[in-house]
Amino acid sequence: MKPTHIEHIGIAVKNLDDAIRLYQTVYGLECYATEEVPEQKVKTAFFMVGQTKIELLESTDPEGPIGKFIEKKGEGIHHLAFAVNGLAGALEETAANGVVLIDKTPRKGAEGLNIAFLHPKSTFGVLTELCEKP
Ligand code: ZN
Repeated sequence: MKPTHIEHIGIAVKNLDDAIRLYQTVYGLECYATEEVPEQKVKTAFFMVGQTKIELLESTDPEGPIGKFIEKKGEGIHHLAFAVNGLAGALEETAANGVVLIDKTPRKGAEGLNIAFLHPKSTFGVLTELCEKP
């Protein structure tokens, strides 16, 4: 596997509107999309920085993954997402290298991407997402 670029960085926030305001007003970036992903219990907002996105994540449920993350660690960087070609193959290769997978097979993420997460205990504490365009 060789990632082509950092597809996005996911940032957990308590209030999406407040966070959007920072990225728009202070950084001068444009929020080009917002999306609710009910399976993940999040609302997201996207900004493009070069070829990398910033994905802001607000929990819609305290029991969801982002809700739990914020309760445990507070707001901040939640995950790093690499773009790869051939996600299913990359996952097999990653597992063969002893990395624990959260998702053994690709699933649908925001923006229609195929995604899979690697366990942070195998990646030095960084929740890592691999994704590819369908
Ligand atoms: Zn992500």
